[in-house]
Amino acid sequence: MEDMVSWGEKRERPARYDVLFEPVKIGPVTARNRFYQVPHCNGMGYRDPTALAHMRGVKAEGGWAVVCTEQVEFHHTSEITPFIELRLWDDRDIPALARMADKIHEHGSLAGIELAYNGMNGPNLYSREVPMGPAHLPVATFTYDPVQARRMDGEDIRNIRKWHLAAVKRARRAGFDLIYVYAAHALGFLHHFLSRRYNQRTDEYGGPIENRVRLLREITEETKEAVGDTCAVPVRISVDELLGEGGLYKEEVEDMIGLMADLPDLWDVTLAGWENDSRTSRFAEEGAQEPFIAGVRRLTSRPVVGVGRYTSVDRMVSLVNKGIMDMIGAARPSIADPFLPRKIEEGRFDDIRECIGCNICVSGDFTMSPIRCTQNPTMAEEWRKGWHPEKIRRKASDKPVLVVGAGPAGLEAAQALGKRGYDVTLAEAGTELGGRVLKEARLPGLSAWVRVVDYRRMQLQQLPNVETYFDSRLTADDILSFGIPRVAIATGATWRADGVGHLHTMPISMAEGARIFSPSDVMEGKGPEGGRVVVFDDDHYYMGGVMAEVMAERGCETVYVTPASEASTWTRNTMEQHFIQKRLLEKGVTIRPFTALDAVDEGEAIVSCVFTGRRERLAADAVLLVTARLPNEALFLALKERREEWADAGIESVSVIGDAQAPATIAHATYAGRRYAEELDTKPLPEGALPFRREITELLPLDQ
Ligand code: ADP
Ligand code: SF4
Repeated sequence: MEDMVSWGEKRERPARYDVLFEPVKIGPVTARNRFYQVPHCNGMGYRDPTALAHMRGVKAEGGWAVVCTEQVEFHHTSEITPFIELRLWDDRDIPALARMADKIHEHGSLAGIELAYNGMNGPNLYSREVPMGPAHLPVATFTYDPVQARRMDGEDIRNIRKWHLAAVKRARRAGFDLIYVYAAHALGFLHHFLSRRYNQRTDEYGGPIENRVRLLREITEETKEAVGDTCAVPVRISVDELLGEGGLYKEEVEDMIGLMADLPDLWDVTLAGWENDSRTSRFAEEGAQEPFIAGVRRLTSRPVVGVGRYTSVDRMVSLVNKGIMDMIGAARPSIADPFLPRKIEEGRFDDIRECIGCNICVSGDFTMSPIRCTQNPTMAEEWRKGWHPEKIRRKASDKPVLVVGAGPAGLEAAQALGKRGYDVTLAEAGTELGGRVLKEARLPGLSAWVRVVDYRRMQLQQLPNVETYFDSRLTADDILSFGIPRVAIATGATWRADGVGHLHTMPISMAEGARIFSPSDVMEGKGPEGGRVVVFDDDHYYMGGVMAEVMAERGCETVYVTPASEASTWTRNTMEQHFIQKRLLEKGVTIRPFTALDAVDEGEAIVSCVFTGRRERLAADAVLLVTARLPNEALFLALKERREEWADAGIESVSVIGDAQAPATIAHATYAGRRYAEELDTKPLPEGALPFRREITELLPLDQ
């Protein structure tokens, strides 16, 4: 066993928070407190089962009384490839799920499983079975697959009930304590049957709400009967689709809940679709779901759980005291801080790593890669790398470390190294901690991002072995004169203003007198304050859209030009694209998709169609280029150049981390900082070894 350090001092918590630590009876099982990790995807699923089991185990260790799986596809006639979820198609899937349930039980929590049949929400690209739903309709996927679902008949409905039951029995054998009936988020057949949008049937499963709710009721009854008093059966439903009366709406769903009232052991209430339920902080405040959930508690005597990106403890207490929810549901807050409940219980409020609501975690699902988190760089690395959000290997030497730059990479490195026990000097050129995060958090809609800095500042304050120096723009001479043996350069990056980005790999032509700006200029308060502005977005994440918003707010006549088909196209992966485009249009920004900026003349932007190359001149008093960044690597390169002086100066290693190495997301920066801290003084890996563990699919004998 490695020598690990953990931190944080137990303190008194206000008595008013005690209510959060009351046990809650959920049918035949009892949760030890009110903290409930609702099902959430993570891009690992059936491909990385052990990594996933450990990730869920850490949540249980952190005090979540209930820890759930993501969607678990329960029959091969419905799968959601290319997205990676869990599977329970036959007995061979049980061991992977049992490993997860065991990990959750190890820490005294209840394990929940969300059985899912996507129906017309899955194109069945892997199984090649014909998808089924309440009606003949094109599959409702994010990817517009050219596949239709067929209408289920009575026999199909009987089959699906049988399959669900078989999965329930397998889930029990795998050791789960809560077995979900999932009817939410427009992501499965039960939701589709509830909603008139999809269900126009004229049989006993269509028409009035009694009929549309019939299948949900039947399946819930059968599930309850099958598990008896061994497991709880929660039902997950969406209270509103935010489509007015064209979709499921609150009053209608409340009637449906009323019809089933005490049949489930717990109601897990959400909004649909998923993009409405997991909105980013740019588009929804903490607790945005509250008005929708508020009415459910009076319809049932069963416990109610819901989400709202809750990290404010007083807010959680008030939800319970007002009788809105019995359990505090969380996906993202439990990702950013798997130890949130334990920290509240132990009065360690300064140690809470609050979710910033950026949805980088969601992007793991959309990009089919293991979940990443901006705030918690250990997420999904619990088994792969042996990282832990609240423990770290003790230092393996007494050699101090110099960290240059207090952006997310430098801050994370400094605090993690400090926790390992190293003496750390953190030198920052400016007068505040935070680097790019601090600047970006001042942009419209991004204020919650400052939590990346807040958490790390609080941690540094508790570490007497980390000294921070401001107004310290270090040079290579300074660093050589200090003679601190290990140096991490985290000096960040600067937005370039030459047009180089995804499209142009060489600078574009610009007239002498043209007024050209970059996001770095705008964040320093410079840039246009009016007139006609062309914003060229060849970065495609959030910054281009945000810059257009800033320009519109400054009263500029703003034209947003992008070679992509839509504004901020990568934000499809954070489920924000739709909201961003809507906001830009509402702010009067003109969006010019499929358009490249080729050159800038005085007073004009020369653009062209990305397909035909047809050119056009747009009047532009200024052009704001959001294309790419250049690493601030001069300091690192200068030190590298003087390598032969290191030994005399007492320097052993100089590393470059985060944006100063290669600009990317803030999540990449916190990961880079953590990685530097985790790997310092570890034994070098043998040549060619992977720096993480991976699991490989077991090969069947060839003749099987
Ligand atoms: P990252 O995302 O990689 O952490 P940031 O750009 O957010 O990068 O942060 C870089 C930080 O480094 C900024 O706060 C900047 O002021 C600081 N910095 C840049 N150059 C120096 C230097 N030579 N000495 C000290 N601090 C520096
Ligand atoms: Fe929250 Fe962002 Fe982490 Fe997701 S990635 S849990 S939204 S901080």
